[in-house]
Amino acid sequence: MELSCENCVNEKVIHKGKYDIFLECQDCLKGCVKQIDSCCVSPEIISINMPRIDKKPTKRNFCKRCGHVSGLVKMSNPDEWKKLPLVTREQANEIADERYKKRRAFYAYIQNKRSEYFESKKEEHTKKYHEYLKSPEWKDRRLRVLNRDKYICQACLINEATQVHHLTYDRIFKEPLFDLTSVCDSCHNSIHNIEIEIFKGSSEDQIKNYEINKLLKVFGP
Ligand SMILES: [Zn+2]
Ligand SMILES: [Zn+2]
Ligand SMILES: [Zn+2]
Ligand SMILES: [Zn+2]
Repeated sequence: MELSCENCVNEKVIHKGKYDIFLECQDCLKGCVKQIDSCCVSPEIISINMPRIDKKPTKRNFCKRCGHVSGLVKMSNPDEWKKLPLVTREQANEIADERYKKRRAFYAYIQNKRSEYFESKKEEHTKKYHEYLKSPEWKDRRLRVLNRDKYICQACLINEATQVHHLTYDRIFKEPLFDLTSVCDSCHNSIHNIEIEIFKGSSEDQIKNYEINKLLKVFGP
């Protein structure tokens, strides 16, 4: 699960661990893990011999601190591995596991917090949306959009437009009219069916996170 945020600036340190710093964005409730500076750098990094499954020796860089193993490093001579300390994949995994356990726990905490947020806001959002569709503001916007598009479906440019579709929900409840477009019944159905198709390959968490991001735009954290 990827929950780190590229655009987040409002990050708060939740926990400073042995290997990582755990951050949470106060704007979008996303989590981010940053490795502490003293990990995976000299003198923690050493050259090791890590044999492959077929017992063939390989030279790799290994962080004594966190157990991170790098890709293959070219040996200076075919026998160089004989002088390197032997570390098995299992030994490295055992060290690294402690770190990944903490990371998994952090992401579980973040996901749980987002889920709680989702539960607390989804009903409110549905209610607000249905009320909005009955409001004079929405009726006015809808009419302006249909007039702008001359009641022609902007998806097929053939049929009479009967509905107004949101191109994005990013500015819902205060949409500028370029967020809206006029469509006919049949095009509107197929647009929403395409959206359902897109989500078909997504996990439940991914769909939920998409919904949470929508809620955050409306209600804030
Ligand atoms: Zn953020
Ligand atoms: Zn390290
Ligand atoms: Zn159409
Ligand atoms: Zn629509």
